[in-house]
Amino acid sequence: MKAQPKASHFVNGDWLEDTAGAPIEVIYPGTGETIARLHAATPAVLEAAIAGAVAAQAEWGRRRPVERARVLMKAVEIIRARSEELALLETLDTGKPIQETRVADWPSGADALEYFAGLAPTVTGETIPLGGDFAYTIREPLGVCAGIGAWNYPSQIACWKAAPALALGNAMVFKPSEVTPLGALKLAEILIEAGMPAGLFNVVQGRGEVGAALATDPRIAKVSLTGSVPTGAKVYAAAAAGMKHVTMELGGKSPLIVFEDADLDSAVGAAMLGNFYSSGQICSNGTRVFVQRSVKEAFLSRLAARTAKIVAGDPLADETQFGPLVSAAQHDKVLGYIEKAKAEGARLVCGGSAGNEGPLFVQPTVFADVTDTMTLAREEVFGPVMAVLDFETEEEVIARANGTEFGLAAGVFTADLARGHRVIGQLAAGTCWINAYNLTPVEMPFGAVKASGLGRENSRAAVEHYTQVKAVYVGTGPVDSPY
Ligand code: NAD
Repeated sequence: MKAQPKASHFVNGDWLEDTAGAPIEVIYPGTGETIARLHAATPAVLEAAIAGAVAAQAEWGRRRPVERARVLMKAVEIIRARSEELALLETLDTGKPIQETRVADWPSGADALEYFAGLAPTVTGETIPLGGDFAYTIREPLGVCAGIGAWNYPSQIACWKAAPALALGNAMVFKPSEVTPLGALKLAEILIEAGMPAGLFNVVQGRGEVGAALATDPRIAKVSLTGSVPTGAKVYAAAAAGMKHVTMELGGKSPLIVFEDADLDSAVGAAMLGNFYSSGQICSNGTRVFVQRSVKEAFLSRLAARTAKIVAGDPLADETQFGPLVSAAQHDKVLGYIEKAKAEGARLVCGGSAGNEGPLFVQPTVFADVTDTMTLAREEVFGPVMAVLDFETEEEVIARANGTEFGLAAGVFTADLARGHRVIGQLAAGTCWINAYNLTPVEMPFGAVKASGLGRENSRAAVEHYTQVKAVYVGTGPVDSPY
């Protein structure tokens, strides 16, 4: 199997290679075989990408928003027309089952492009009457934004960042994760085909150093990172030194609270989606499932029965519901957490070891009787490992759910909607669900509080993060001066 792109980078409307850059080997996680060989960006590649973006942005930022929107809508059309080819590439890049990549990854990316194409022409400033004189505001693009991606949703992340950035008149230099470098290149190619001027969306490959070079370059006005909390802290600090805008979409250890009056089958289904979809490699996953004690055993038995039926296997097969982890490093890290949970006394309900479908599989795993102090309840695993904790009272579970440095997401299952709203109102999380989990339509803001990040992606809220306000005072009479 091969998925070798024409070159490592896509810069200023064309493929660009510089074999002096450190090699990056791309593996297909389904089998572990190498499917592409790329090179990290050298200083020359980065210079071409940033300088090209600066040059292209000047004209693009002055265009009428509807003209920019038209280009993005064309890209949406191309993405939807090529959905099968794009789903296949995403599966090769990530190892996620094709039944997921057909409905989740590029389709969500296309939604973002469509949404921001529609929204951009409606973005206006305001006029402020000042008794004769007046002021007005203009929402201007920031300039050149850097996008730095994680490996779990590589194409969706590229689209979620590129869509508001480009629709609102910015350029973007995007660095995908070195683990999954292929999808963003495809987006760059599609945007050019859709009529986007060269240089507005440049893709450069590389590891942390390349991301750091973007975060420190004075020509970059904003950095939008999707990644882990430790990386976020570094990138935020680097951006602060240059007074850059940031959006930080980082890790989590989100609570999913199941009250005794909940529809248990829905709660079990949501807990499974929020721990096993994409083999658990989703930032907003509800990895601490708090179940009210009176329904705990019923919840666990239904969960175990349904988990046993999950179809794991070849990610390219239509029937496969569960694939491998993205890399050997992630596979080993997840198994390490499983061993630690066993050693710390959590009760293994199902799974608990490597899968035999391929070298990078880990079984969907559930631990019960997890306590707040266990490593499994405190650290982000980023794999298919669910921790079930039990609780007695509403007050208790709110305090325990909030007892973490993270604050990405939270969910509540209950038939008592007053309670649902009351509990969500007290949870420290940026993205929440009541009687649902992990649904992230583009119309809804997505983001975090506390160590899990800041800024918001998607929705109108993203406009704040890809534009800045210029205020203009207009004098209408003679200047009244004491001098
Ligand atoms: P990571 O932090 O290791 O890497 C993220 C990106 O940052 C990569 O492109 C990497 O090359 C780059 N990078 C690393 N060091 C850098 C530096 N010093 N300066 C600039 N860039 C640097 O994360 P990962 O392992 O790729 O992804 C998994 C993490 O991402 C998890 O913690 C997960 O929760 C998080 N995530 C968050 C969201 C969200 O929207 N909140 C979505 C997906 C993933």
